[in-house]
Amino acid sequence: MTKPVIEVESLAKSFGDNKVLKDITEKVEPGQVIVVIGPSGGGKSTFIRCLNLLETPTAGKVAFEGQDLTTLDQKSVNKLREKMGMVFQGFNLFPNMTVLENIKLAPMKVKSVDDAAATKRAHELLKRVGLDDHADSFPSSLSGGQAQRVAIARALAMDPKVMLFDEPTSALDPEMVGEVLNIMQELAKDGMTMVVVTHEMGFAKEVADRIWFMADGYIQENNTPDQFFAHPETDRAKDFLSKIL
Ligand code: ADP
Ligand code: MG
Repeated sequence: MTKPVIEVESLAKSFGDNKVLKDITEKVEPGQVIVVIGPSGGGKSTFIRCLNLLETPTAGKVAFEGQDLTTLDQKSVNKLREKMGMVFQGFNLFPNMTVLENIKLAPMKVKSVDDAAATKRAHELLKRVGLDDHADSFPSSLSGGQAQRVAIARALAMDPKVMLFDEPTSALDPEMVGEVLNIMQELAKDGMTMVVVTHEMGFAKEVADRIWFMADGYIQENNTPDQFFAHPETDRAKDFLSKIL
C-alpha cells in the first residue's frame, strides 16, 4: 500500500462568517492527476491553498505524505512545502532576474545546491518546457505563455512530489493556452502527481484521472472524467455543465 501524497479530512475554512470550505475529505494518490472544477467563488482557490497551508484551515486535517501539516511548526511546514510546487494564474517571476536565475534561486538558497549543478538542472528544465534559448532573457521580454512555462520549470527545479496549479492558463491570451496545457500534459504522462484547478474542460477530459467538482464549499462529485461529463449526478454539476459545455 502506497501512502496518499495528500490527504484531507473534514477540512473547513471560513473567512469571518463566510464558510468557504465546509467539510472536505479526499485523497490524492501518487501519480494521480486531479482536476478541480466548479463555479467561480466556490472555494477552489481556497482549497488548493489549504493543501500547502498558504491558507490556514479553520478545522480538519491536511496531511502531506502522511504528516498532518496543521500540527507542525512553521519551520517543518516550510520544509514540506518545498516538496509541493505551485503555479498560479499570475506568473510571479522575479522581474529583476533572468529566466535562468529565476529557476536557480530556490534550489541554491533553500536546498544549498551549488551553482554549477543548479545551472545544469535549470537548462534541462528549460529544454523540457522548450525555452532554453530564453535562459538569459528577462521575464518582461516573455509572452504570457512563455512566462508560465518558466514558472512551471521553476517549480520543478525543487523536485516537488506534487504540483498544484490554480488556473494556470486563465490569464493567457487564447493562442498561448495550448502550449502551457501541453507541458502540463507531459508532466502528467511522466507520472507527476498533480492537483489542477482549471476551466479547460478539454484538458480535464483528456488528462484527469479524477474530476472533483467543487461548489458551495463541498466536493460535490468525485468521479472519472468519462462518468462526470457524461453522467453528472448532482443538480449543481448538471447546472454547471449546462452553462459551460
Ligand atoms: P474560487 O477559486 O472557486 O473562485 P475562492 O476560493 O477564490 O473561489 O473564493 C471562495 C470564497 O472565499 C469567495 O467568497 C471569496 O470572496 C472568499 N475568499 C477567498 N479568499 C479570501 C480572503 N483571503 N479573505 C476573505 N475572503 C476570501
Ligand atoms: Mg480561484
